Amino acid sequence: MSQQTCPRCGGSGVTEKLRYTVETGPDGRQQPKAESYLSPCDHCGGKGHVN
Ligand SMILES: [Zn+2]
Repeated sequence: MSQQTCPRCGGSGVTEKLRYTVETGPDGRQQPKAESYLSPCDHCGGKGHVN
């Protein structure tokens, strides 16, 4: 049984994703905001390698 580096995350176990939120500014206007965050890779389950 051999293990390969996960092609999705490159072995880091996490992938960067974008989340869109709406923020209300001080003037009461709503502004969309994109925010990047790291999430466990859903291809390898966060292990960084696949069997
Ligand atoms: Zn992965």
